[in-house]
Amino acid sequence: MSSFFQTSIEFLKGVGPLRAALLQKELQLFTFGDLIQHYPFRHEDRTRFYTVKEVAEKIDEVSIGIQLKGTLTSFQTIGTGFKKRLVATFKDETGTLELVWFQRINWVLDKIKLNTPYLIFGKPNLFGNKISIAHPEIEALTAGNERGGYLHPVYTVTEKLKARHVDSKFIGKLIATLLPMAKNHFRETLPAALLQHYALIDKPTALHHIHFPQTEALLLQARHRLKFEELFYIQLRLIKMKLVRQDKFKGMVFSDTTILTKFYKEHLPFDLTEAQKRVIREIYADMKSGKQMNRLLQGDVGSGKTIVAFTCMLLVVSSGAQATLMAPTEILAQQHYANLKKYSDKMGIEIALLTGSVKKSQRKPIHQALENGSLQILVGTHALLEEGVKFNKLGLAIIDEQHRFGVAQRSKLWQKNASVLPHVLVMTATPIPRTLAMTLYGDLEISVIDELPKGRKPIKTTHRYDSHRLQVNGFLRTQLLEGRQVYIVYPLIDESEKLDLKHLMDGYESISRAFPDVPISIVHGQMKAEAKDYEMARFVKGETKIMVATTVIEVGVDVPNASVMIIESAERFGLSQLHQLRGRVGRGAEQSYCILMTGNKLSSDSRIRIDTMVKTNNGFEISETDLKLRGPGDLMGTQQSGALDLLIADLGKDGELLKIARDAAAQLLEADPTLSKPENQTVRHQVESMKNSAVNWSRIS
Ligand code: ADP
Ligand code: MG
Repeated sequence: MSSFFQTSIEFLKGVGPLRAALLQKELQLFTFGDLIQHYPFRHEDRTRFYTVKEVAEKIDEVSIGIQLKGTLTSFQTIGTGFKKRLVATFKDETGTLELVWFQRINWVLDKIKLNTPYLIFGKPNLFGNKISIAHPEIEALTAGNERGGYLHPVYTVTEKLKARHVDSKFIGKLIATLLPMAKNHFRETLPAALLQHYALIDKPTALHHIHFPQTEALLLQARHRLKFEELFYIQLRLIKMKLVRQDKFKGMVFSDTTILTKFYKEHLPFDLTEAQKRVIREIYADMKSGKQMNRLLQGDVGSGKTIVAFTCMLLVVSSGAQATLMAPTEILAQQHYANLKKYSDKMGIEIALLTGSVKKSQRKPIHQALENGSLQILVGTHALLEEGVKFNKLGLAIIDEQHRFGVAQRSKLWQKNASVLPHVLVMTATPIPRTLAMTLYGDLEISVIDELPKGRKPIKTTHRYDSHRLQVNGFLRTQLLEGRQVYIVYPLIDESEKLDLKHLMDGYESISRAFPDVPISIVHGQMKAEAKDYEMARFVKGETKIMVATTVIEVGVDVPNASVMIIESAERFGLSQLHQLRGRVGRGAEQSYCILMTGNKLSSDSRIRIDTMVKTNNGFEISETDLKLRGPGDLMGTQQSGALDLLIADLGKDGELLKIARDAAAQLLEADPTLSKPENQTVRHQVESMKNSAVNWSRIS
């Protein structure tokens, strides 16, 4: 670890204690290392100067800022009030154009002199037949800047920093001061063989060009190298964790398929889809392998994960071990229990449900049966994690809807078996793009059910404006008359909770007025858990026909008779969330519908989201679009992960590079699992220094 990069930025020329404190607070820049890794988010083209004549000729092509050199020959203040502006004539040897300021007019008049050579930078626009540049950057022409020849970095700064004159330019200057000082302290962080094989430039060169590239090509090379490194070390770490775990934790071997074969022959209620079969094979292979399984099962809502879970349980039960399924809510646990019990009863398998609301007197026999091994399958909620719950021999722990459980809870379940860890299967209905899955769950094996059972009618999705509410209600009426049930979902987002709650209540009232003879449920986050569960249960049983709710119903609830999902203010939901909500319908034999209600004004992102929903039912396609729109940090299920705090790579855009980096990491570890070969000492060193900084693994240290 080089202490140079640990030096506080306070000690860099031009910073000092006050600015250092500000930079720490606003941008989390503490050390020289942090500052060097405060990469610009774009560059301005200062490679060349344009002439006024060129600008006039190419005005249609110039879509970014450009630079010119010349003099200002006149100032003129035009208009009054908010139309007041300062117009200057700018002149070089080929012609003239206009510079315009709407703000800081006095500052310009005070500082800028006529007939003195300046360098100006800005984006030219054509107004009538006049070319003008609004609010150009302007600086005196000096020996240092008059030749151009570089790309100018633009850094993220906050308003607070700007107010204290710590702007992008200032940060650029600091980095320009720091880079030459750092020169002798840099060391390469990737092994030579990798650099050569993937044609990557060395680290010091990359760090120079990421800030001050002479050409676009150098900038791209620098970015490529730094992104590769970042992704490589994240993947290396994940794969290493997986290898260590596989090595360390033996798994129980389950290979007896008698019960399973019986189930397949006599009780399987439908033909499994090819995807279900493939996934089951993958899981069986793990459970026979003698290594502990840690697998993520991704499958869109309705893809049939439950039966997969059950068949895996059978394999365990066949060998006299136990299986458990943990769901995030009471309702879901009940539903799973009801489903699995149907199958279990046919097979003569003992199954029980354990949730928070199971009474003490009923718990005791469950605990006992669990401990003596006569209870074979236990379904439940968090209650499974309580002290008193002891398995005789837990062979498989299945966790439904991963994103509601933290990693800590996952491992708590594992520890239920003192000697040998159970196999762990995490099921999620949140489709995550592959690139993201590789990073978030890179330490797990991943299985995907990418196919819906045959004969499913795809949900019809339409977009309606609020002004069409009467027609929508008319449609609802026809569905209700046919005996169907309906969800109406309202957004509820923390900051505006009161207002949202009001919208929900208003919506409930107007729906009650429109359908006075229809029993209606309402469920929202402010209600007590029991009240919520009670209302949900009424809807599940079909006692109420309309469910007015916030997104609390999002996860897993299965009401096959519900055929319409209306999403109010749909423009306020993220794509994954819309998709999750839509997945609440289309579970029965009837044609189902999803209606996205919005106001008339839609932002372009909202429009893309709505159009995507109308266009496709494919969860993976939707999550890819979501990833592109929002970036990885905001996707569902990713919130709790620090792994996404990347310096330079973008999981939405760098999918290809991620795969390459992951392969490179896998190959390296395969050849040298302990990183002890001399040529991998760089990697070893880097991995060790990464251990200390939990969040980002490619930082210089
Ligand atoms: P999810 O993946 O959302 O948990 P479920 O396991 O609840 O999906 O399955 C949804 C519905 O599809 C259930 O009613 C289930 O019985 C049915 N199902 C599952 N697999 C098949 C299949 N291969 N063929 C026909 N129906 C299936
Ligand atoms: Mg399910």
